[in-house]
Amino acid sequence: MSDNCIFCKIARGDIPSRKVYEDDELFAFHDINPVAPVHFLLIPKLHLVSLAEADDSHAALLGKMLTLAPKLAKEQGLDNGFRTVINTGKGGGQEVFHLHVHIIGGGNIPPMVKRS
Ligand code: 5GP
Ligand code: ZN
Repeated sequence: MSDNCIFCKIARGDIPSRKVYEDDELFAFHDINPVAPVHFLLIPKLHLVSLAEADDSHAALLGKMLTLAPKLAKEQGLDNGFRTVINTGKGGGQEVFHLHVHIIGGGNIPPMVKRS
């Protein structure tokens, strides 16, 4: 837990969010600036800065996040598939430095990489 981290504050309920899911280790909430009709974030309650800081001790936690994602996506109506995105570090476009998985869908999702 980090005092200055916005996602730690959201997981604690100190900053309000539109909650999607919560258990003892994980928290999910709708993104404040969605890029698609459904766009929510899944985070560990543990303050882990990014995937670059994860090690073997986090393997079970990361596995739990990835197996939970499709269940939450389905609950949010994404029956036809969804995109998961994890931005890592400044070079990966990460803006909030508490590990999070974006779960996005419900609209016209273009291919991630376009090759000509
Ligand atoms: P990143 O670029 O770090 O992968 O994504 C950070 C995401 O967090 C962005 O999509 C942004 O809209 C979202 N975000 C930033 N601050 C808040 C907030 O206070 N509440 C919510 N619900 N989402 C936030
Ligand atoms: Zn945090």
